[in-house]
Amino acid sequence: MKILKKISFIVIALATLLVPLSMPYKEVEVEAKAQTLRQLKNELAENERELEENKQQQAQTQSQISSSKKRIEQISQEKIQIEKDVADLTDEIEQLNKDIVSMNVEIKDLMSYYQLSNTGESAALEYVFDASTFTDFIYRMAITEQLGEHNSDLIKQYNQTISENEDKKVELANKTEELNDKEKELEEQVKQNQATLTKTLEGAVSIEDEIKNQKKLIDIYENTYKCKLDELLDDCLAGKLPPDTAFYRSVVSGRVSSNYGKRTYKLNGKWTSDFHYGVDMSATHGAKVYSSANGVVAAVFKKQSCGGNMVYINHLVNGKKYTTGYYHLADIKVKVGQTVSSTTVIGHVGGSPKYETWDHCSTGSHNHFTISTGNWGTTYKSYSGFISKQINPRKVVNFPALGKSFTSRDRKY
Ligand SMILES: [Zn+2]
Repeated sequence: MKILKKISFIVIALATLLVPLSMPYKEVEVEAKAQTLRQLKNELAENERELEENKQQQAQTQSQISSSKKRIEQISQEKIQIEKDVADLTDEIEQLNKDIVSMNVEIKDLMSYYQLSNTGESAALEYVFDASTFTDFIYRMAITEQLGEHNSDLIKQYNQTISENEDKKVELANKTEELNDKEKELEEQVKQNQATLTKTLEGAVSIEDEIKNQKKLIDIYENTYKCKLDELLDDCLAGKLPPDTAFYRSVVSGRVSSNYGKRTYKLNGKWTSDFHYGVDMSATHGAKVYSSANGVVAAVFKKQSCGGNMVYINHLVNGKKYTTGYYHLADIKVKVGQTVSSTTVIGHVGGSPKYETWDHCSTGSHNHFTISTGNWGTTYKSYSGFISKQINPRKVVNFPALGKSFTSRDRKY
C-alpha cells in the first residue's frame, strides 16, 4: 500500500515535472495529398476559391458588425429622447400639482368669500330688506358657484392629465427596458461576430500562405524539376533533391522536454491527455534552428495561432523520402523552393508567449521537431493529412532521453 502510494506520487510528480512546452495541435480536416502537378494545381484552385469565400465571409461579418453598431447608436439616441420625454412629463406633473394646489386655495377663498357675504347679507336681509342688495347677493353667489365649479372641473382635468402622464412614464420605462435588452443582445452579437471575424482573418492568412507555397512549388516542379503534368511528383523528384546520409538535431543545445507519443499533463489546473506528434527541444529563445538534413523547403507558414512560424522541408536521406517540420519559430529565414543543407539556418527558436504572442500552442521557448515519411508535394494545411505519415523522430534522429540536455547537433546518446 505504502509502495503504491509512493509510486503514484512519483508518477504524479514526474508528470508535473514534464509539463510540456507545446500544447496539442488543433485537428484540421483531412485533405487529399497532391500526387501530381495537375492535382497540385487543382488544390491551388480549390484554395483560391476558399480564399474568395473567406473574403466574402469577412465582408459579410463586417457589415453585420457595422449594422449592429448602427442600431446600438440609434438605441442610445432613442434612450436619450425617452429620458427627455420622461423629464418633460415629470415637469408637467409637477406643474399640474402646483396648479391644483393653487386652485384649491382659490376655491377655499371663494367659498369663504361666499360664506362671509352670506352671513353679512343675511343680517341685512333680516332687518333691512333691500331689493338691490338682494339681487347683488344672488348674483355674487351665482358667480362664486360658477367659479367654484369651473375650478373643480379644471382640477379633475388636471388630475386626469397627471394620471395619463404617469401611465406614459410607465410605458416609457418599459420601452427603456426593452431597449436595454435589445442593446445587450446587439452587443453580444457584435462580440460574437468580432470573434468570427478574427477566426476568418486567421483562416485567410493560412490560406494565403498555402497559396503562396503552392504557387512556388508549382513553379519549381514545372521549371526547375521539369515535372510533367500527370507524372507522380515522387517519381519526378526522386534523385533530384540534394541527398543526405543522416538527420541531425535542429538546435545545437537544448533539453528534450517532450517526447513523441501519448502524454498526460496538467493544463490550466486540469489533467489533460493528448498525442504529441514530435519531439520538443526546449532551447534559448532566439537560438539558431537548422535544417535537420539537406533538402528543399516545401512550405512555410507564418504566425499560425497554433504552431506559430512553421517550416517544412523535403529530404532524401539514404534514398528514402522524408519531410521534416519545425514549429514555434521566432522567424523564418528560408523561402519555399530554397535548397538547404543541414547547416542552413532556417529560423530561430521561438514559442515564448512573451514574444510570439500569436502562438497559443506554446508555453515556453522550444523547437518542436516533427518528421513524416514521403509527403513530397503535399499541402501542409491539413495537419492531420501530414500526421498520417508521421513517425517517431527518434527512429531517424538521435536524441538524449526525456529531460536530458545536449550541447551539439550530432553527438550520439
Ligand atoms: Zn511539441
